Amino acid sequence: MRPVKLLLASANAGKQREFAMLLAPLGLELVLQGALGIDSVAETGTTFEENALLKARHAAACAQLPALADDSGLEVDALDGRPGVWSARYAGAAATDDDNNARLLAELDGVPPERRGARYRCVLVLVRAAADRAPLTACGSWEGRIATRRAGNGGFGYDPLFIPNGHEVTVAELPAALKNAQSHRAKALAALVGQLESGAWLERDAR
Ligand code: IMP
Repeated sequence: MRPVKLLLASANAGKQREFAMLLAPLGLELVLQGALGIDSVAETGTTFEENALLKARHAAACAQLPALADDSGLEVDALDGRPGVWSARYAGAAATDDDNNARLLAELDGVPPERRGARYRCVLVLVRAAADRAPLTACGSWEGRIATRRAGNGGFGYDPLFIPNGHEVTVAELPAALKNAQSHRAKALAALVGQLESGAWLERDAR
């Protein structure tokens, strides 16, 4: 059977890699929005849910295809949940992952290990069309803490600083397969697939 094509509304190379690995066993083939010449939409929402929905509707409108979007980020307890939805832009509009990690380390300078708790959060939204009145939404989170220095080369974003609960090393030091089994994104996707398998959503009218 030929794989079903699904448009991924993300320009983030790290997320694209992870989604390709997560979706392959489901017989889904990802089409990247960049490959269709679709630009990223401005993330003007104040919650992960709002931004994920914005991205999914924008990509579906441009491509006239069903679209999957992810909005995700890091919430740090000692920073009252920041950087949250601003994770990609924490150190400025054009910030690199390295800039963001440097800012995080600077803001947590002197904070003891027991107060460095944090979590990754991911919200996924799947729409059948841009004007879908019943988008499918699923969430996942991954608890851990922020290290005092960067370690490892794997993953992307804050992975060199994020130590998941149950591990003593950062995500960037763990095998990709382990991240893809335990991460916020993997959990959100499992929840989304569970809802899809129940069949109810597919039977609901999109218009
Ligand atoms: P978004 O494209 O607005 O959803 O930005 C998500 C940002 O959150 C990324 O650019 C990273 O900084 C951070 N982030 C989300 N998921 C992960 C992850 O799995 N590892 C590391 N950083 C992540």
